[in-house]
Amino acid sequence: MKSHNKLGINTICTHVGEVKDEQFKGAISPIYLSTSYEFDNVDVKRYPRYFNTPNQEMLCKKIAALEKTENALIFGSGMAAVSTTLLAFLHKGDHIVLQQTLYGGTYNFVVEEFDKFGIEYSFTKDLSIESFQKEIKENTKVLYIETPSNPLLTVTDMEAVANLAKKNGIVTMIDNTFASPINQTPIDFGIDIMLHSATKYMGGHSDILAGAVAASNEHIDIIWNIAKNLGGSLSDFTVWMLERSLKTMNLRVKCQSENALNMALYLDKNPLVSRVYYPGLESHPNYALAKKQMKNFGGMLSFELKEGIDAMAFMNKLELIKPSMSLAGVESTMLSPTQTSHALLSPEERENQGIKDGLIRFSVGIEETKDLIADIEQALK
Ligand SMILES: *Cc1c(COP(=O)(O)O)cnc(C)c1O
Repeated sequence: MKSHNKLGINTICTHVGEVKDEQFKGAISPIYLSTSYEFDNVDVKRYPRYFNTPNQEMLCKKIAALEKTENALIFGSGMAAVSTTLLAFLHKGDHIVLQQTLYGGTYNFVVEEFDKFGIEYSFTKDLSIESFQKEIKENTKVLYIETPSNPLLTVTDMEAVANLAKKNGIVTMIDNTFASPINQTPIDFGIDIMLHSATKYMGGHSDILAGAVAASNEHIDIIWNIAKNLGGSLSDFTVWMLERSLKTMNLRVKCQSENALNMALYLDKNPLVSRVYYPGLESHPNYALAKKQMKNFGGMLSFELKEGIDAMAFMNKLELIKPSMSLAGVESTMLSPTQTSHALLSPEERENQGIKDGLIRFSVGIEETKDLIADIEQALK
């Protein structure tokens, strides 16, 4: 398939990056589990840790087509993709500016490991472009953002960040997990490198741990050079499961985004709910920006119950919606960030990030909206 850029999104999801079954002409990609391949004349030494088995190589084409980049790499987890990519572009004495609100694992990687490598880092005070500008130093090599963010769904201006970075000769990276390439293609706004926890929307069925990075050939070469040393590649069986999952990604994410908007509108009107955080609500402070850079607003939202209603007691009463740490599956889940993802932060740190004890994060699945509403209604009673 030579001209993917002309194909529609569902066609890319279904067909780009298939492994052809030449022998039996089966409809789906065969899985090549070999860790050993005969040498051929061309300079390809296939080996799973070199990220170049047939299944790995072909799946990268699908992910690159989805993110509209030249190339991609897939990893054994989202954090393998994030850590490998950061270490590829940051050397001893370099500096990185990261946005204030980040996925907990990324934050931990930076604050627990970077000192050992002699890498300097700063977090922005807020998400304004002035905040990013202020932290840039002589030795800044990377600007790192995540939008929409977890768990408050804040939105960062991708184009403004990309322009600021270009002026200063800095590489930009985005964690695009929450939006997925269905709702947001950051390369359109000038961002260089897109990172994913494929465990979330790309996998979509709560049964795969994987990660991905999409970028230009030049940037992917830089990442590959360290990736083969760090060894975080994905096993071919899981590669195959991920390929299968990606076939329905647009259908799933579109449905999840519609459901989430409907749930946000319902919760916003519910007298027992004090606040809803969803970039698709006109009352969201970044609504205009979200509308500019996103196609739909995604399947994640957060909300707070009115004072005096115990969030844990409410979640325990839910029957259809499950309490769960992970997110983005076809089934709806809720969690309390204070009790789970942000439990290790001090109450002050949570307060600084705007995370209240009663906050509930809602990962909206593909169920019927009316059934989700009925479940919330009966639990609130
Ligand atoms: C889950 C997640 C990650 C980490 O991915 P793993 O697959 O768990 O390693 C990174 N970023 C975001 C936004 C996530 O939700």
